[in-house]
Amino acid sequence: MSTKQKRYFLTEEEIPTQWYNIQADMVNKPLPPINPATKEALKPEDLFPIFAEELARQELDQEHAWVDIPEEVRDMYKYYRSTPLVRAYGLEEALGTPAHIYFKNESVSPVGSHKLNSALAQAYYCKQQGVTNVTTETGAGQWGAALSYAARVFGLEAAVYQVKISYEQKPYRRSIMQTYGAQVTASPSMSTRAGKDILTKDPMNQGSLGTAISEAIELAVNTPNCKYTLGSVLSHVTLHQTIIGLEAEKQMQKTGEYPDIVIGCFGGGSNFGGISFPFMRHNILEGKQTRFIAAEPASCPKLTRGVFQYDFGDVAGYTPLLPMYTLGHNFMPANIHAGGLRYHGAGVIVSQLLKDKLMEAVDIKQLESFEAGVLFAKAEGIIPAPESSHAIAATIKEALKCKETGEEKVILFNLSGHGLIDMAAYDQYFAGNLTNYEVSDEDVRKNIAELEKVI
Ligand SMILES: *Cc1c(COP(=O)(O)O)cnc(C)c1O
Repeated sequence: MSTKQKRYFLTEEEIPTQWYNIQADMVNKPLPPINPATKEALKPEDLFPIFAEELARQELDQEHAWVDIPEEVRDMYKYYRSTPLVRAYGLEEALGTPAHIYFKNESVSPVGSHKLNSALAQAYYCKQQGVTNVTTETGAGQWGAALSYAARVFGLEAAVYQVKISYEQKPYRRSIMQTYGAQVTASPSMSTRAGKDILTKDPMNQGSLGTAISEAIELAVNTPNCKYTLGSVLSHVTLHQTIIGLEAEKQMQKTGEYPDIVIGCFGGGSNFGGISFPFMRHNILEGKQTRFIAAEPASCPKLTRGVFQYDFGDVAGYTPLLPMYTLGHNFMPANIHAGGLRYHGAGVIVSQLLKDKLMEAVDIKQLESFEAGVLFAKAEGIIPAPESSHAIAATIKEALKCKETGEEKVILFNLSGHGLIDMAAYDQYFAGNLTNYEVSDEDVRKNIAELEKVI
């Protein structure tokens, strides 16, 4: 660790009061989501039965670049925002790189990740509309924990379906959700028709995000005054996460530098979009040349090896058809420890930006991500979430390139969460029990061929 470490904060008055909607500034807008029943472009009303109305409108808004953050949400942001922007002198010294490395530390939120930025907004809009109950699914539990906290804040009842294997293997996030008063059910369960159907056919089914989404949507549709919420992928979630990049933009001004490269790990795209879009705005509007790199797991490579086409957002096929980079909604990612990155598709905005080459993507192997995470913990003192370690690994690659060329590039990455509840995964790494899980070209081809038959 370095004694030189420097942290930049914003005063309460400097914290941004609007989110940034990049769709308004994009030259090629994302193609519209399609209602699978009518085969027509989705309208906000199509989403009203499932989502709060304001969130449905935000989802499809390609017009307004700036969206006011409601005062009640800003008040709750103040509990942990601004989050620190840190000059990572320790990491620079450990790598011997001339690059200037900065990270935005979203792990300081009360639940330990960036997810709360959108959970608070979603719970607020539900409350404002008279909703009393919210449902959702969660894998490793980061999103479930954030929504449980936000539901508590705004006086809503939360029901969370957690993938059964995680419910059993990661008991502490379940405890966190229960501490905030949420009702947590292992999915598949006998409490919904979808769950019963799965368990009747396969009593030992361990669940997936697909089974949990189906159960959460079913409960929302069948319960009066109840809405469903989602922690990633959708455009309104990424909109709320732009608070990360908007703060970082002001904090970078205080450093006197501007990033040459911005990096985020990639599950569905919300923390990557959150840190990137406010800077990408200057590429689009003023011709700045910043590079944006999404770091995804090699075992779930939708950006680097998937196809761009319409696909469902969930395994059951309940969601609208979304134009996105995908491995096919039936793709079953290997059981890597970065549970938050185990998703088959990418959000529609990032997908269009990647297609138009406004951003890049790299894939990171599981062992490389843990090696990077441990190096970072030793250099900066913060134990990163296994998801965030993918962004760290991509940052190290770029910093080492600078070492070869002698370039003093400015690199900014997002530390999306801490790993203090993921230490079982670190134990497995230290014991040499982790592997890299390669995906064969054959598997990708087969899965995408299947998809083309369905859609
Ligand atoms: C959920 C999660 C992610 C991945 O989700 P995105 O929507 O791609 O940001 C990354 N890091 C952490 C810590 C998470 O909890």
